[in-house]
Amino acid sequence: MRHYNNWINGQELAPINATFIERISPADGTALAKFPSSTQGDLEIAVEAANKLHLSGAWANLAASERAKLLVKFAELIEQNCEFLAKIEAEEVGKPITYARGEVMWSAELVKFAAALAWQIPGEAHTHLGENKLGLVTREPRGVVGMIVPWNFPMVCLFQKLPYAIAAGCPVVIKPSEYTSGTALEVAKLAKQAGLPDGLINIVCGKGSVIGDGLTRHPDVKMISFTGSTAVGKTIARTAADDMTRVALELGGKAANVVFADADLEAALDGVLFGVMLNQGEECVAGTRLLIEKSIADDFVAKLVERAKKVVIAHPLKDESQIGPLIYEQHYKKVLEYIEIGKQEATLVLDGSHPEGEDLAQGYYVGPTIFTDVKPEHRIFKEEIFGPVLAVTTFETQEEAVQLANDVEYGLGNGLWTKDIDKALQVSKQLQSGTVFVNTYLEGAAQMPFGGYKQSGYGRENGVDALLEYLEVKSTFIKLGQRTPVLPNTL
Ligand code: NAD
Repeated sequence: MRHYNNWINGQELAPINATFIERISPADGTALAKFPSSTQGDLEIAVEAANKLHLSGAWANLAASERAKLLVKFAELIEQNCEFLAKIEAEEVGKPITYARGEVMWSAELVKFAAALAWQIPGEAHTHLGENKLGLVTREPRGVVGMIVPWNFPMVCLFQKLPYAIAAGCPVVIKPSEYTSGTALEVAKLAKQAGLPDGLINIVCGKGSVIGDGLTRHPDVKMISFTGSTAVGKTIARTAADDMTRVALELGGKAANVVFADADLEAALDGVLFGVMLNQGEECVAGTRLLIEKSIADDFVAKLVERAKKVVIAHPLKDESQIGPLIYEQHYKKVLEYIEIGKQEATLVLDGSHPEGEDLAQGYYVGPTIFTDVKPEHRIFKEEIFGPVLAVTTFETQEEAVQLANDVEYGLGNGLWTKDIDKALQVSKQLQSGTVFVNTYLEGAAQMPFGGYKQSGYGRENGVDALLEYLEVKSTFIKLGQRTPVLPNTL
């Protein structure tokens, strides 16, 4: 079993109360790790270390090109330790090891991209403001940033924030999920090895209601970047409002894959299945609704069911595994409850609630589950289930497809499948979501911002926008040359 302490000011620090949270494998119940169940005192030490570094200017005033070089080293160390980190991620989350490897390498890629952005932090000079007048628009690091992340993609959710804040010049205090803190604590050690200064990355493990809330209320924390559920995101936004602490929120989703009859249906079958099964459906942008043109619906769903039956459900450390267990018992029960609700509301055409296979009974496994005849008023259409459960609804016109896709409170992502480029662009424009995938699903690029519309949150990660989130904008208006008093001139 791995035994962890907090990571504060470049070293391990045991929690003051010497209390730990045990992480049990969702695949087979073995004890995997112990993480600190920290209290406010631990948080105070971490915020103080981060703030001290910020106030010293040692990181904020370092040439951004130097910050970039250290970030590149950090990325290389993450790559070199891919297998080690991926195993921890697979064990703690329950995600298949092949996807965990992809998650680690993608995280390293984001660090390299953020490093490149650091070289060109934007500023403006306004030289046409009138004679002897100069305007400068500069961007300054906001100060200490609190990062609160969930358990489904512990590395990617963190790395859509961390390297950008570091590139911008901000020290951070991270509150990982109490179920999956391992990789955050390991990468902090790699950051030190890369030469990033003590106090830049601090990690305080523990409960959201204690450490997450404490971080949000802390007067020396100037920004909270949160990824998690919409309910907790709203609580954070309300709390942060008291101090006008800036907040960026990456929240829940209920994405649709819209499949038109003129699509490449083979590709759409793969994309729809991948969209709902990736990470056991524990994915904020999972395509858990299929909106399909009525003329092709029966045939498409029949083929989808056949394909879904072939998905390999197995222990996450097995290379062949495509679906691992859900995160913990309570969540597993919640997903099974939704399957029961679905049975009352719609037609069950594939039941993954009790998959059969070697050792599966020891873990919280749920296989692909598909419902047809789903209506917009059904709970399985509207609510985030966070499991591999697909709700299928048919449409007859393009307008109806768009209306159905937008008929949920979330707006994180959607997919659409058609060979008609005009239709693709029209529909893409009408979809109320921060991301639209066309003829593919769950692809992305570091250059492209990621974030939500509606109840999926605000703020953007990745792209240049991610860097800008961590920079305060300052306008400096300069009168040059003349020494005349200001007041008479302005009258
Ligand atoms: P969660 O909201 O329960 O927890 C997220 C984090 O917030 C955890 O670290 C938790 O300890 C902490 N927390 C809990 N209560 C808190 C409080 N009162 N104050 C401060 N922090 C608190 O979410 P989860 O169950 O860990 O993750 C699943 C959710 O995350 C889903 O809704 C999913 O859609 C969402 N998510 C969104 C994205 C995105 O990019 N939009 C990515 C991944 C996950």
